[in-house]
Amino acid sequence: MGIATTNPANGDVLKTFEPLSDRDLEAKLDLAQQTFLNYRTVPMQQKASWLNRAAEILEAERDRFGKTMTLEMGKPLKAAIAEVEKCASVCRYYAENAPQLLADVSVQTDASHSFIRYQPLGIILAVMPWNFPLWQVFRFAAPALMAGNVGLLKHASNVPQSALAIEEILHRAGFPTGTFQTLLIGADQVAAIVADDRVKAATLTGSEPAGISLASTAGKHLKKVVLELGGSDPFIVMPSADLETAISTAVTARMINNGQSCIAAKRFILADAIADEFIDRLVEKYRALKIGDPLLPDTDIGPLATPGILKDLDQQVKMSVQQGAKVLIGGEPLSDRPGNFYPPTILSEIPAGCLAEHEEFFGPVALLFRVPDIDAAIRRANDSPFGLGASAWTTNQQERDRFIEEIEAGSVFINGMVKSDVRLPFGGIKRSGYGRELGKEGIHEFVNIKTIWEK
Ligand code: NAP
Repeated sequence: MGIATTNPANGDVLKTFEPLSDRDLEAKLDLAQQTFLNYRTVPMQQKASWLNRAAEILEAERDRFGKTMTLEMGKPLKAAIAEVEKCASVCRYYAENAPQLLADVSVQTDASHSFIRYQPLGIILAVMPWNFPLWQVFRFAAPALMAGNVGLLKHASNVPQSALAIEEILHRAGFPTGTFQTLLIGADQVAAIVADDRVKAATLTGSEPAGISLASTAGKHLKKVVLELGGSDPFIVMPSADLETAISTAVTARMINNGQSCIAAKRFILADAIADEFIDRLVEKYRALKIGDPLLPDTDIGPLATPGILKDLDQQVKMSVQQGAKVLIGGEPLSDRPGNFYPPTILSEIPAGCLAEHEEFFGPVALLFRVPDIDAAIRRANDSPFGLGASAWTTNQQERDRFIEEIEAGSVFINGMVKSDVRLPFGGIKRSGYGRELGKEGIHEFVNIKTIWEK
């Protein structure tokens, strides 16, 4: 299927779209460039008022936008509505804080006056995934637009209505036409846009192959890129942890978004002393989760976004079992209904060399590993090609310090689940990508950091 809304709960194709022709694409690029020439001079206060208006629209119409996401990719409606609210919060945060984050910074040197000024770059291309259809885009757009850039969005092909809704929201909020445009195009049309001289930089959230492809083109044309790629985040539980809170959080941290989050906890690394109890109680909690129609208010787990995701996950689990892993619960797609349903699943006794040690499982599958002590826990946590986030549970100060210092990841959360926060930088290391979104570091990714020296 090309660019289309297909309900993952039953396979119904709800709406299809034609990709933009080369001519239409050229017109949009031209409009973006023309818009930038004026938009770059728009005062902060004006941009902030448009962004605050976007927040108001999101809040007023949260149910409608939430339902669009649920119908396109299957997340439970209550989570979709919460996502719309988070988008409003990122708009409000950058409306209020961008002026200070982008203000001139004086530095004392041998000049009579030297300082740093942050100026926009121009057109930024955002290539985005379907798993948080609104949030992934707003966390790019709010800081980028406040910095004076204009945005082009190539969204995932299965969320076109969410993609169009974002353009609509920003336009209705008052941003001039051309400040933010959605391009309904296939992945094969991305390289030509990156290569275009008018496009100054790109950001991609998605898989490793997509990141590699975009970064290669950008490298060839010397363009700046931010990459937010996959993860297989560790969730480490030490003997001193508050077990009840750790177990409840372990359910949310793995099952969020039907298990399809880059920063979901995927590898549970359990100290021997608490492992049996933790596992028994985790299995119980997984069994109690309600799988079903994501539009219903009591549904905890909806379908996976596409048949392809379901097939890949099923193969990974089957292969892991062939390699010696044990299934404690779940382990098979639900064949008693239409749609892409996969149940909460736990794999334990994962042997050395099993693919579950190193691959990302993008669905509701928890991978369990037992360790004798903190040295083994840290070794296991770092034994991954990815380095996005990590969550560690302990009340021991020395252990806490070691996790903070020694875990190889873009973020470490102690006694809490990994989540993005509009105030904090977000991103990874190793094969999880490079660059940051959000926070001071995020808003500075797509600006010319200009040094001024005056005598
Ligand atoms: P994907 O296939 O890489 O798709 C992401 C976006 O990239 C889509 O818009 C897709 O367009 C586009 N794309 C695919 N191949 C491309 C190429 N060769 N050149 C340019 N663009 C290309 O990713 P996915 O499988 O849908 O998403 C899941 C992955 O994203 C997981 O690995 C997950 O961990 C990661 N992710 C990371 C973060 C983070 O913040 N680090 C957040 C969310 C998800 P089409 O849809 O048209 O193919």
